[in-house]
Amino acid sequence: MSNKMWALLTLLIGAVAHAQELPSASPVPGGIAILPLVPDTEPVPVVHFADQRIMVMRHDGRWQAVVGLPLTLAPGPQMVTVRDSQGRTREYPFTVQSKEYAVQHLTLKNKRMVEPTEEDLARITREQAIIQHAFAAWTDETISSLRCLLPVHGPVSSVFGLRRFFNNEPRQPHSGIDIAAPVGAPVVAPLAGTVIQTGEYFFNGKTVFLDHGQGLVSMFNHLSRIAVENGARVSQGQKIGEVGMSGRVTGPHLHWTVSLNNSRVDPALFLPKIK
Ligand code: ZN
Repeated sequence: MSNKMWALLTLLIGAVAHAQELPSASPVPGGIAILPLVPDTEPVPVVHFADQRIMVMRHDGRWQAVVGLPLTLAPGPQMVTVRDSQGRTREYPFTVQSKEYAVQHLTLKNKRMVEPTEEDLARITREQAIIQHAFAAWTDETISSLRCLLPVHGPVSSVFGLRRFFNNEPRQPHSGIDIAAPVGAPVVAPLAGTVIQTGEYFFNGKTVFLDHGQGLVSMFNHLSRIAVENGARVSQGQKIGEVGMSGRVTGPHLHWTVSLNNSRVDPALFLPKIK
């Protein structure tokens, strides 16, 4: 075989061995934009969007920016800033399309969950700071695949992005998905990660945060039991807790939030098609 053919073969094998599985692209508020950058024979570039560091994955022979788009982002032109190993920067434009999310009305018997007392509000403010800090995590980590497992067996009872009203009061949109399951059902890590925070919060109940690396963070809420310690390394499919109904709920379920570059995005984009 000629040197040229060997080189080609080595390149092909290398490409197969290093291909990283991406989530589904959906460039809408609450979705993900995937932007092909430079060939992956070049050093990995450093990408920023709205002052946040952006995940970069190797796929189809290129470095690809995997950009989380906040629900509050206005549709229209946007751009990421890409810095190469020589320190040169270049902008990559992309377009955010619009998406209409459905409205959901929920009724809560516990009025305090809709109209918290002053004491509750102080607690909520304290907890928000902890939660925001966890979502802002960044760790340099090579992720081979972004294909997640469903963290609990059960039907999706509330999709991502619903514009919510609790007892007819407008509240924050649904920042994750709800999976209906009985109390005690095992909750597993959808992807390998490190436990960066656990706690029991006013709205979210018993909670675990997993840092999967490169700005990808999962949050699991309303647990009846937490099965992992802060700082623990967990593998994909490992049990991290049990389904419960702690915090603001209408029944037992798992709420799972996925945050990418500090933007809450639709977890369904990381799952094999379930709808
Ligand atoms: Zn939920």
